[in-house]
Amino acid sequence: MEILFLGTGTSNGVPQLCCNCDVCSSTDTRDKRLRASALITIDGKNILIDCGPDFRQQMLTHQITSLSAILLTHEHYDHVAGLDDVRSYRAVDVFAEERVDHTLIKTMHYSFAANKYPGTPELKLHEIVENVPFEAAGVEVMPLRAMHAQLPILGFRIGNMAYITDFKTLPEATLSQLEGLDLLVMGTLRFKPHFSHLMVEEALTLINRLAPKQTYFTHMSHDMGLHELVEKKLPPDVRLAYDGLKIKL
Ligand SMILES: [Zn+2]
Ligand SMILES: [Zn+2]
Repeated sequence: MEILFLGTGTSNGVPQLCCNCDVCSSTDTRDKRLRASALITIDGKNILIDCGPDFRQQMLTHQITSLSAILLTHEHYDHVAGLDDVRSYRAVDVFAEERVDHTLIKTMHYSFAANKYPGTPELKLHEIVENVPFEAAGVEVMPLRAMHAQLPILGFRIGNMAYITDFKTLPEATLSQLEGLDLLVMGTLRFKPHFSHLMVEEALTLINRLAPKQTYFTHMSHDMGLHELVEKKLPPDVRLAYDGLKIKL
């Protein structure tokens, strides 16, 4: 299994529009963060986690010409705004919770109409339920509950890798499913607290408890700081992901 980080930024991306802070004006390519998304490749099949507004650019950059499945964590625009561009691929299986499916049917009604407008994306929606494993492109995936403040969303465990972003708290049932990980990818916004996202200190507490072999942060804001300096403050088994990073498991 291989994971490719297509984007590691929060909803604004980094640089953030209209900002000229040190991070937004950094020349380090690791400080350029598209909206968070990852591509998991197993046995030649590509499984995309989230499909944000930078999807088209991410697919062009990495020359991804096939997609077997898309897993959606939740319906916020930075995680689904790229779905219209899926029209360039063949019919794709999309796995999401019932609420997310309903949102997509409303916002992308033209894709789900009885008489579809030709050329619209072919999204085959599959409803998934927390803690009930499902198969995506022949791969077993475990959907895990995470709380984005009051909004229940999903993280995913595939083998010994888990990808879980945009959360503030995790229920016990999820914590027990996150044991024995080789790789934990975790949304961690910045050092300062935020009402709906994890901050670094909270992330480190969680890592202590879960003890994954390696953790990478994603979904970072410009407030996280410069990639090079922040990594020096973190334990060696906790790193910041960056756009284009590939990890083989
Ligand atoms: Zn987000
Ligand atoms: Zn900035």
